[in-house]
Amino acid sequence: MLRSEVDRSKLSPVMVRWMELKDSYPDTILFFRLGDFYEMFFDDAITVSKELELTLTGKQAGLEERVPMAGIPAKAYEGYLDTLVEKGYKVAIVEQLEDPKTTKDMVKRDVIQVITKGTRIDNSIDSKDNNYIASLYAFDYCTILSYADVSTGEFFVTFLEEEKEKILRSITTYAFKEIIVNSKVDKEIVTMLRNNYHVEVSIYDLLYEEEDYKYVYKKLKDVRLTSGIKHLLSYLLTTKKGDLSHLQEVKIEDRKNHLLLDGNTKRNLELTETLRLRERTYSLLWLLDKNKTAMGSRFLKQNIESPLTDKKEILRRYDMVEKLSVEFILRDELKDALDEVYDLERLSGRICYGNLNARDLLQLKNSLKALPTIQAILEKLNYDKKLEVFDDLCELLDNSINEDAPITLKEGGLIKEGYNSELDELRKIRSGSKDFLLELEKEEKERTGIKNLKVGFNKVFGYYIEVSKGQCNLVKEEFGYERRQTLSNCERFITPLLKEKENIILGAEEKIINLEYQLFMQIREVVKRYIGQIQKCASLIAEIDMLQSFSFVADSYNYVRPILSDKNELILKESRHPVVEEVMKKTKDLYVSNDIIMDQDTSILLITGPNMAGKSTYMRQLAIIVIMAQIGCFVPCKSCTMPIFDKIFTRIGASDDLVSGESTFMVEMKEANFAISEATKNSLILFDELGRGTATYDGMSLAQAILEHIHDKIGAKTLFSTHYHELTSLSSDLSHLKNVHVSAVEEEGKLTFLHKVKQGSVDKSYGINVASLAHLPESLIKRAKEVLNVYENSSEKKPIYTQTSLFSFEEIEEKEEKKNEIEEAIKECNPLEMTPIDALNFLYHLKEDIKKKEQE
Ligand code: ADP
Repeated sequence: MLRSEVDRSKLSPVMVRWMELKDSYPDTILFFRLGDFYEMFFDDAITVSKELELTLTGKQAGLEERVPMAGIPAKAYEGYLDTLVEKGYKVAIVEQLEDPKTTKDMVKRDVIQVITKGTRIDNSIDSKDNNYIASLYAFDYCTILSYADVSTGEFFVTFLEEEKEKILRSITTYAFKEIIVNSKVDKEIVTMLRNNYHVEVSIYDLLYEEEDYKYVYKKLKDVRLTSGIKHLLSYLLTTKKGDLSHLQEVKIEDRKNHLLLDGNTKRNLELTETLRLRERTYSLLWLLDKNKTAMGSRFLKQNIESPLTDKKEILRRYDMVEKLSVEFILRDELKDALDEVYDLERLSGRICYGNLNARDLLQLKNSLKALPTIQAILEKLNYDKKLEVFDDLCELLDNSINEDAPITLKEGGLIKEGYNSELDELRKIRSGSKDFLLELEKEEKERTGIKNLKVGFNKVFGYYIEVSKGQCNLVKEEFGYERRQTLSNCERFITPLLKEKENIILGAEEKIINLEYQLFMQIREVVKRYIGQIQKCASLIAEIDMLQSFSFVADSYNYVRPILSDKNELILKESRHPVVEEVMKKTKDLYVSNDIIMDQDTSILLITGPNMAGKSTYMRQLAIIVIMAQIGCFVPCKSCTMPIFDKIFTRIGASDDLVSGESTFMVEMKEANFAISEATKNSLILFDELGRGTATYDGMSLAQAILEHIHDKIGAKTLFSTHYHELTSLSSDLSHLKNVHVSAVEEEGKLTFLHKVKQGSVDKSYGINVASLAHLPESLIKRAKEVLNVYENSSEKKPIYTQTSLFSFEEIEEKEEKKNEIEEAIKECNPLEMTPIDALNFLYHLKEDIKKKEQE
């Protein structure tokens, strides 16, 4: 049954309300509260029953047919919700806004929040990662990207370039889970994001026009930027529907201040997750994350994805890392103190937005208590920023919140004794009455002579006097007992006195719970006033935590402080790939360190060497060291002098399967184009066997042309590995290109990799040796060797062509064309239709042709 076909006039009032809400939230699944369940109807029910494997039932709703329905218990809805949101659905929680007991009419129901992938704030999100939601807001000539993490309140905005390709490339660097776009955004971008990058994209056109959150963008002058932010704000407020006053003032992201890494580069270098398993373990982030707080871990991740270019700031971090290493005892104390600090950013989010509980405030208190110790250590370390301490707030929380408060806010036990006199008074009444009941039990036993008489309580009947079956005959009329309940082994009675006390106790209980709730909310309001300061404190804690982590890593793994050169020289002595080195330690293997030397006059290192020799590891190693250096971390080298890079481009390893529908070679060429059009003299380019995806001559020519282009027109520091040994002779023409090779030794046909990078080139590929290491069949390897022998003996060494010798390329192509003509002739003939004489003639002519062509 379709929702659109329903005659609404026949529907029951509850279903009419459901219809109204569904009209307002058409692309959202409604979790519609009915008593103890959340129910789904119509298409929602069908979708949910499939996705969550729930039984699909029906509900009488006034129509001839029953309406499809599926339900989940309200007490255990979170797991179901997580699954749906993770699968990309939006879920609106529709709550009963009144107590059914207090109203005669149908209870009011409304959406209290919409839960989407990018706006989650609950405990389901990874504490070590930001959960960003983004908005793309397109104008005629530019697009604005704004993004925010609702759980921490961080808000950013930036301009994007106009071209589609570049917009896509910029967005995909961030790994957003959810993006909202205005209708002006190119449809192709929307389709690509949905289909190729698997991002949840919704079209949304409203802008925030109220006053409350103006502070987020009040400092911005450019109306395009403010529109972008208003777009995202509007969406956030309509989905979250609560107090989001923890949202912070927006920061303009200035790309010039950051080392730019595109999405491919981040993936290729395995900065935050590994390529194959997409896991954090064995990524650079995994190695460097020795943070004690979630804030530190998130800050580190932000830095790794967007390192700095500001020399002053980088040096400032080095100084602190160094200081922490010298003062390692203070560092240990700092680590211990940081261990006490909870996630202040996300706590701030929870304090403002609804779902705060008393334990959160206890966490806040314990965190704040650690701050004076941290500040004292920072002072000793001459740290240049001051950490605010919150004595008043700490005192308030210390005096008010009960140490073992429950998670819920509606069962009391939240507030400490001594904080509020009215509460204390009520509690006295309650416990006084309870004492009275104990006394009453004693007195009644004596008065009635019934030895096992008991005073008890249950929720339905309240307080009662219980007498076992065997002694019921002792109950006399003059006792004034009134029978309330008969059970198999006892009878329960009440007396007027008991009821009187019960009223006092239960009245006090209810008052206590309500008062505690009110007091809790008042405390929360006070805490809210500190949110801005707490957030500032959180970002400082994040930085200091990251720096202590760098210092610890530097000491543990033997890293050195880089020297940042203004002379465009790169001299890394005995450098290592930090992650591979650590992984190898587990198997007690030794990583072979290598120099990477590119002085002012060298822009390209052309790397040759067999497969498996370590070429791509060498290249990755450089990029990772650069990234480490530019986030303020020390590096795995004996010594390191390097310039500050502005961008890194990589084309390494397997092609990106995200951009489907394009061949590996096409992707490779697009990457190359992107690199050479965007790179500057200050960039780093890593090309691993560029051009191998096409025919040898094509590939080699392209590789050479690209090398020449980088050499003559860009001057970016470039590592270029290749199997085209012919390219090594370029060093005689290109003065800024140097050859290096990774060595291997072959003994009795057995290949050993030394992983040592040396000056000059090699001209042997050892491909067959490597294949045999991969255990290809003996017979196959033997045959390959035979074929190789034939090739090596027959083909003369191919000349290398410079840019001016285009004629030679044409020559090559012509030769290939003629070879193809013969092939074509054979393909086209049909031996079944030939007479023996025809066949003989055909063969004769073919032979003549071949002879002629060889003479040419
Ligand atoms: P290539 O790109 O030349 O085919 P890789 O860089 O993929 O080779 O390296 C092949 C293997 O050699 C890797 O598994 C890596 O662990 C190991 N390796 C690379 N460089 C080193 C090194 N410097 N020291 C020790 N092992 C290395």
